[in-house]
Amino acid sequence: WKHAPADLGVLLDLSRSHGDRLATILGDERVSFEAQYRAVAALAQALVDRGVGKGDRIAFATRNLPEWPVIFFAIVSIGAIAVPLNAWWTGDELTYGISDSGARIVIVDAERYDRLAAHRADMPDVGEWIVTRALTAIEGTTALEALIGRPADWAALAPRDRPPVALASDDPATIFYTSGTTGHPKGALGTHRNLATNILSGAFAAARNFVRRGEPVPDPAPRTILTVIPLFHVTACSATLMGSMAAGGTMIFMRKWDAVQAMRIIERERVNVTGGVPTIAWQLIEHPDRAQYDLSSLEAISYGGAPSAPELVKRIYEEFGALPGNGWGMTETMATVTSHSAEDYLNRPTSAGPPVPVADLEIRADDGVTPLPTGTVGELWARGPMIVTGYWNKPQATAETFVGGWVRTGDLARLDDEGFLYIVDRAKDMVLRGGENIYSSEVENRLYEHPAVTDAAVIGIPHRTLGEEPAAVVHLAPGTSASEAELQAWVRARLAAFKVPVAIRFTEGTLPRNANGKILKKDLKTLFDDRPGA
Ligand code: ATP
Ligand code: MG
Repeated sequence: WKHAPADLGVLLDLSRSHGDRLATILGDERVSFEAQYRAVAALAQALVDRGVGKGDRIAFATRNLPEWPVIFFAIVSIGAIAVPLNAWWTGDELTYGISDSGARIVIVDAERYDRLAAHRADMPDVGEWIVTRALTAIEGTTALEALIGRPADWAALAPRDRPPVALASDDPATIFYTSGTTGHPKGALGTHRNLATNILSGAFAAARNFVRRGEPVPDPAPRTILTVIPLFHVTACSATLMGSMAAGGTMIFMRKWDAVQAMRIIERERVNVTGGVPTIAWQLIEHPDRAQYDLSSLEAISYGGAPSAPELVKRIYEEFGALPGNGWGMTETMATVTSHSAEDYLNRPTSAGPPVPVADLEIRADDGVTPLPTGTVGELWARGPMIVTGYWNKPQATAETFVGGWVRTGDLARLDDEGFLYIVDRAKDMVLRGGENIYSSEVENRLYEHPAVTDAAVIGIPHRTLGEEPAAVVHLAPGTSASEAELQAWVRARLAAFKVPVAIRFTEGTLPRNANGKILKKDLKTLFDDRPGA
């Protein structure tokens, strides 16, 4: 990569060279890289004028708006720490993120500001609220528009350079919160280097496909990306935003996900890449009106962050002629650690791919030290320049998770003899029945194969002598039926008897998920409280 940036300020400067190319599109709002740069420089100056300096935290929560990358780069380009909060969080959760990070300035859209109405008195340390997209000025707040105008105005802002602040690659840059699937969300403190590494990893992954086919590697071409997943997810920020800033790619946002609207945009804007989560790909594949739209510009549909069905890989390739992509990562690794695509993925659809060249993976025994032989399932450990420095404000959790340059992932996995990673389960989700380990994902996958089941989770429930036994919670497709005994027989025909759920509960709607779309297994255990003690 010719332009590997050392810090995010350099990446911002590099993005300016893309000039009139479009950086972001939302409906009629089309923002060029030069206009985006001017807005970043103006907001960065406004923050410097307010005394914001190195290491100060600024929290922000908005939907995917053109303002998002502007706010993000204004903060990190002056050495402050960006704290992107999950915009789907409740008032309580947003309050936690703002207070935990110790943010002195908070930037929100009007929707989030309203949501925090009852909570703002609990956050006395917030010295200023900056609100964007409010219809009328809100008393006691600063309108973001008063500082930089609306996106349509940014091209007309005075051209100026960003404030001169010396940045180093190892300076802290971000606090992203984990999804809170296994406990309370933890803030992961990442550096400029951690994020910039994704640019290299993305370029390597793209080049690898050409090398494998024996073709010359072209210069990375700018891509138009329908960016459906929120930028506050570390994946979207690290892979999509960082990659687009480096290569001059265009990110198209949607006010709200809608498959028809997405197909219209793909046709009109000649979108090359989309995805984010497997559900998005499924909705496009299964949409009855798909043939009415010209989706031939699609080159790749990628996703990650959660288990996905192996048949999705083939469907994407066959129905769109697009290359499927997957990757494994976590907030603590600032996203991409493995990257899986094209032929490699088609040939190994149950894998999450090989590590990117700068990452090391190891499978270790429970003691966290002993390496296990190839092919054995154990806990996944990872190392590389993308691993964050630790958790914000949580020394004990940091000491347990970040050990000797490695991160303990909490995922159970195996590596094959070519170095491809297979995620098996989360360690916390494994059911320990007497001496037997039951991987919840294995039982869930069998349940998913039943035609009536559309959502399933397997958890451990207490047993006096065995410790735990497997139980399941499922949601059936509307208009279908299946009894507990029928589903148990279905699993029994496919797996060893000790893996069959001893009890199955049915939910009216889909299973409870957190804001990042992950099933909240810890909340499901109470469904079995009424069960007579085993
Ligand atoms: P918390 O750490 O707060 O409990 P979380 O682990 O869900 O929440 P994230 O950092 O968003 O928070 O998610 C990382 C986890 O997502 C990984 O540890 C892994 O379990 C899962 N995951 C990520 N990528 C994949 C993938 N490609 N296939 C299967 N699982 C994945
Ligand atoms: Mg986690």
